[in-house]
Amino acid sequence: MKTLLKGGCVVSGRGAEQLDVLLEGEKIAAVGRDLAAGDAQTVDCSARLLFPGFIDAHTHFDLEVGGTITADDFASGSRAALRGGTTTVVDFAAPDKGESLARGLARWREKAEGNCACDYGFHMTIDDWSDSISREVGEMLDQGISTFKLYMTYPAMMLPEGDLFRALLRLKEAGGLAGVHCENSAVIDVLTAQAKAAGRLSPASHPRTRPAPLEAEAVGRLLRMAQVADVPVIVVHLSTAEALEEVRAARRRGQTVYVETCPHYLLLEDSVYDHPDFLEAAKYVCAPPLRKRTDREALWAALAAGEIQTVATDHCSFTLAQKRAGRYDFTKIPGGLPGVEHRGALLYTYGVAAGRMTEADLCRALCENPAKLYGCWPRKGVLAPGSDGDVVVYNPAGESVLTAAGQAQRTDYTPYEDFPLRGGVERVYLRGALAAEGGRVLETRGVFLPRGRCVL
Ligand code: MN
Repeated sequence: MKTLLKGGCVVSGRGAEQLDVLLEGEKIAAVGRDLAAGDAQTVDCSARLLFPGFIDAHTHFDLEVGGTITADDFASGSRAALRGGTTTVVDFAAPDKGESLARGLARWREKAEGNCACDYGFHMTIDDWSDSISREVGEMLDQGISTFKLYMTYPAMMLPEGDLFRALLRLKEAGGLAGVHCENSAVIDVLTAQAKAAGRLSPASHPRTRPAPLEAEAVGRLLRMAQVADVPVIVVHLSTAEALEEVRAARRRGQTVYVETCPHYLLLEDSVYDHPDFLEAAKYVCAPPLRKRTDREALWAALAAGEIQTVATDHCSFTLAQKRAGRYDFTKIPGGLPGVEHRGALLYTYGVAAGRMTEADLCRALCENPAKLYGCWPRKGVLAPGSDGDVVVYNPAGESVLTAAGQAQRTDYTPYEDFPLRGGVERVYLRGALAAEGGRVLETRGVFLPRGRCVL
């Protein structure tokens, strides 16, 4: 099967150029001027932008959180992803405490196998440390799991600092890379207990018990440990200007630090938690919480300056009925926001069309950098001969409004309700096959993506 994408503007991390793209089988066969292939199906892409398939390296599908399970599983989440141009997700295999990493990985591969419409890989969550887990790290790398998630908060998930440091040393030795959730757990616990004792149980307490300095403090503490261990690390879902300052300080010391942020930290702010209607506030509960306008502006500037390498969604979706579990206690609201479907159009609209970033910046943030960082470059993340035929055909013309009514994500709301959008994803190819067209998702089957070392 051959498809010739004709007359589009091919975007890379270096710029945009009018070039044709020839897909053959699962791969890109050629990228160039005036390509011809008599036996190919030709698609007119004039006035369209062609991006490499977007990579969302932070999703949580089919995850149990506090006694409930995310609204999206691999089937619905991956279809929503494809609809929005995301052809690869990297989800998190999360073993139970005491369970081997191998068993955890097997369980998560089972959840995705045959159900995931886009390509997928896994980060491995390490929420426990022992000699046997240390030994398993090497086996995980052999199986294409090259990145590991460590938590500095959540009692059920976090590692004591000594173990976190041991894990960093072991990952360095094995060639793996850690992505870390940075918040100061102990102080959050005290603030939470105080809020509860005072009867402040509404969602308004959520951001107040997880204030910005407690993220910056944890980022700083992590980066000092990484300095001593002499390892690069990824700070995931960074949300504040203060945390960025900690990253800058580490980089000035000569450290390699990678930063991910999320669309919600770029586009929303913490005033939503003060809404008098419980659900109107609860639907935005996530951790770290939404921050201030000044944080948003700092994140946009850092993204344009290349200080933030990637934007992933941390898609962790719950319905409003699930959020209602915290009606009388904000700590019982399942934390997480949907977003896997809309990241591309939101970043295009509020980044590129708004003049905050270029098309090349967008390509770096959603395609090139995650592919390099998470070890799947150049198979993914670039439109070049030999790479997978994952292509997003984006029509930058036209305006629409984002609403939950039209979404494929299995939630009954979106945090971006009524957000105007500029242009949209018109067609998506996954390994050479048409996977989505005009919002309609076709039958595709994703494959497990073994990943190697970071090359960013
Ligand atoms: Mn997450």
